[in-house]
Amino acid sequence: MKHMYVGGEWVESEDKRTVATNDPATQEVIAEVPRAGKEDVDRAVLTARKTFESDEWQDFAAEERGRILFDMAGRIRAAAEEFAQLETKDTGKPISQARGDVEAAARYFEYYAGMADKIFGETIPVQADVLDYTVREPVGVTAHIIPWNYPIQITSRSTAAAIATGNTVVVKPAEDTPLTALKLAELFDETSLPKGVFNVVTGYGKEAGDALIHHPEVNHITFTGSVQTGRTVMEAGSKNIVPVTLELGGKSPNIVFADAKLDESAKWVVKSIVQNAGQTCSAGSRLLIEEGVKEEFLQRIQKQMERLSLGRGLDDPDLGPVLSQKQYERIEMFLDIAKKENASFLTGGERVHVDGCRNGYFLAPTIIDGLDPHSEVAQEEIFGPVLSVFTFKEEQEAIQLANDTPYGLVTGVWTENIGRAHRLARKIRAGQVFINNYGAGGGIQMPFGGYKKSGFGREKGLEALKNYTILKNVAVKM
Ligand code: NAD
Repeated sequence: MKHMYVGGEWVESEDKRTVATNDPATQEVIAEVPRAGKEDVDRAVLTARKTFESDEWQDFAAEERGRILFDMAGRIRAAAEEFAQLETKDTGKPISQARGDVEAAARYFEYYAGMADKIFGETIPVQADVLDYTVREPVGVTAHIIPWNYPIQITSRSTAAAIATGNTVVVKPAEDTPLTALKLAELFDETSLPKGVFNVVTGYGKEAGDALIHHPEVNHITFTGSVQTGRTVMEAGSKNIVPVTLELGGKSPNIVFADAKLDESAKWVVKSIVQNAGQTCSAGSRLLIEEGVKEEFLQRIQKQMERLSLGRGLDDPDLGPVLSQKQYERIEMFLDIAKKENASFLTGGERVHVDGCRNGYFLAPTIIDGLDPHSEVAQEEIFGPVLSVFTFKEEQEAIQLANDTPYGLVTGVWTENIGRAHRLARKIRAGQVFINNYGAGGGIQMPFGGYKKSGFGREKGLEALKNYTILKNVAVKM
C-alpha cells in the first residue's frame, strides 16, 4: 500500500519516500505508506479547494450527499471483518473492540447521512418591509488530524459530518495507524462522491500534519490528540484565522458513593480503564471512592483486573499491547514516579511477556493507591491501563477532587441518590457526565468534547454540524 488518495487518484509522495506501520504485538512492519511532504499536502488541499468550488459540488443536492453517506455505511458493514482485522493489526487492540469501532464508524455515516438535507436557517423578524433569513453554508476545505487510538471511528465521525454539510475533506491519519483511513478512501472511490471531496495524505505529524494545519486554503481544523500538539494546531488556526475543534484527552474520574450498586460500578470502573489498554481519551483513569466502602470496592476491582487476559489483538484478549515502545516508555515514566513517591501498587505495574510477541509492549492492568492528588501521576493523562485511587469522606470533597485536574472530558457518577446525582452533574466541570453508567452505548448522538485542557468544540451528535457550517444572514428589502 504505497499510495495515498488525492483527487480520486492513488498517488505516491512526490519524493517516493514512505513510512512503515507496525503490528504493535510483534513490531513487524505490516505496510508502508507514502511519507507526504509539503508539496503533497499542497496538492491535496488545492484539489479539495478546487473541488469545493466546482459547480458540480456547489450544485450537488444535499439529499444526494446523504445517499452517498448511507451507501458508505452499507459498504463499511459489508467489509466489516476486513476493516476490523486491519484496525487490530495496526493498533494492537482486541478484535472484538475493533469490530465495535467499525460498527460505530458505520453508525456515524448513517447518522450524518440523515442530517445532510436537514440543515437550514431561520427567518428573523425585523422591519415589516425586510425579509431577514439565515442560511448555514459549508465552511470549505476541512482538515482532519487523526490519532492512533481509534482511527476508523475518529476518521468517520468528523469526515461524515463534514461531507454531510457540503465540505471537502483532507484527512491526515496518525503515522502509526494509517490503514483504515486508506481503506475508507477505497470505499469512497466506489461511490458516486465527486473525486476530490475525500482525500487522505499519510505521513508524519511534524511534516504532513504541520503542512496541513498551516495551509492557507484550509478553512477548519479538527484535531484529536495530545495537549501539546493541540496547542500547535490552535496556533496554526490563529495564524490563518480559522476555527479549530480540539479533543485533547483527559484524566476522567469515576466517583463511587457508598450507596451505589457496587457490582455494577466495579464492572464499569474496570472496563473504562482497560478498554483499548487504557489508550482512550475518555478512559476512567481515576477512581474516587467513598471511604466506608473503599476496601470492599478495591478488592472487587483488583480481583476483576487480575482475571483479565493479555495477548495479541487477533486472539481477542481483554487487553492488547500498548501502541509502541515510545508509548510504553511514557507510561513507565509515570509508574516510576509513583514508585518514587511510595504509592502502593495493588496490582500490575509490570510489563508482561506474551508468547509469540516478544517485541510487543504489554502492561498488566495496574491500580495505584496512596498518591498525592496533585502528583504528576494523578494529574496527567497516562494513556495506559493505569488506575489511580483516591478516597473522599463527603460529597463536597468528591466534587473538589473530581474537578482538581487540568482536564475535564468525562465523569462517571455512581449513586442511588437522585438528588446527589443531579447536584454532581451541575458541579462537575466536564463535557460529559454519566450517572450510573460510563459511555452509555457509544454515544454517536451525544455531543462530546472537553472543558479546560480537554479542548473545545463538540464532536458527535448534532452539535458537530456547527463545526462544519458557517452562518450567513441575508436581509431583503421589499
Ligand atoms: P499527537 O497529538 O502528537 O498525535 C496526534 C496526531 O497529530 C497524529 O496524527 C500526529 O501525526 C499529528 N501531529 C503530531 N504533531 C503534529 C504537528 N506538529 N502538526 C500537525 N499534526 C501533528 O499524539 P502522540 O504523540 O501520538 O501521543 C502522545 C500522547 O497524546 C498520548 O500518550 C496521549 O496522552 C495523547 N493522545 C491523546 C489522544 C486522544 O484521544 N485524546 C489520542 C492520541 C494521543
